[in-house]
Amino acid sequence: MEQPIPPSLLQALKKHKYHRVGKHSAVKRCKWLYESIIHDRACYKQKFYGIKSHQCIQMSPSLFYCTQQCLFCWRAQNGDLQINWDEMKLPSWDAPEEIVQGSLKAQAKILSGYNGHPKANWQKLTEALRPRHVAISLTGEPTLYGPIGELIRVFHNRGFTTFLVSNGTVPSKLSELSEEPTQLYVSVCAPNEAVFKRVCRPQVPNAWAKLNETLSLLPSFRCRTVIRMTLVKGHNMEEVDGYAELVEKANSTYIEAKAYMHVGFSSLRLDYGSMPQHREIREFAAGLAERTGYSIIDESSESRVVLLSKR
Ligand code: SF4
Ligand code: SF4
Repeated sequence: MEQPIPPSLLQALKKHKYHRVGKHSAVKRCKWLYESIIHDRACYKQKFYGIKSHQCIQMSPSLFYCTQQCLFCWRAQNGDLQINWDEMKLPSWDAPEEIVQGSLKAQAKILSGYNGHPKANWQKLTEALRPRHVAISLTGEPTLYGPIGELIRVFHNRGFTTFLVSNGTVPSKLSELSEEPTQLYVSVCAPNEAVFKRVCRPQVPNAWAKLNETLSLLPSFRCRTVIRMTLVKGHNMEEVDGYAELVEKANSTYIEAKAYMHVGFSSLRLDYGSMPQHREIREFAAGLAERTGYSIIDESSESRVVLLSKR
């Protein structure tokens, strides 16, 4: 029997402006979609990778499910607000085509809110009605979704580019992806297993070993790969040597070192002071560059993120 999702969780997600799609997926308006259409300001990924913020859908096929309970995560986790469910009891999955259609519909609904907005850039709004990019990253672990490769393929067949953001704890799924994303992100938010257990709070056995297995797999991908480090002051910014070893193993195209942001449900677990300053992210990135063959190639102080690459 499928696990019923607590109505209080659905209400909390609605309040946080998640648009549920089918049984287990969701789209949420990214702050940068709004900023791009209303204030002509784009997210750092537009600057780094050319992704147009106003044509980007932020979604997840794994709204309620994850293999980790990271302290810094903005999603609702089991136990938050005294709401309980089993994050690893997976449902029967909706079909990829249904999820893609539902995501497009949800994005169109979000965009309808800008009709009549006096500051909306009409050309951008018109373009936004034809989204070109999807960030499969919003919440939960997307590789838990059974046909994740098929989902990527359906988006590609519709002319989308894709970002897939994984925590790397399901290497078996990544190794047999039927379709690679345009860009694959793997989160590395700890320099060693002890910090990993404390900060990323895995809910599956051998998660650290599985993450390491994923990092070893990365060189076999044809797509661009990115190691994403979410850095939390006082929690995971020490021991740069440990991060350097993991980076060597993955040999990713890029590394994004990024500050934790005190938003969403993470504010139930961390305080405001846990957000590093951009200066601290830069220092961390410089330490990483010193220990690896990577160089700092770009940064966004507003998003407190530094981009490194060997290219
Ligand atoms: S790439 Fe990410 S941050 Fe940028 S607009 Fe898309 S969802 Fe938002
Ligand atoms: S892996 Fe991602 S979705 Fe899961 S708890 Fe961590 S940050 Fe949140």
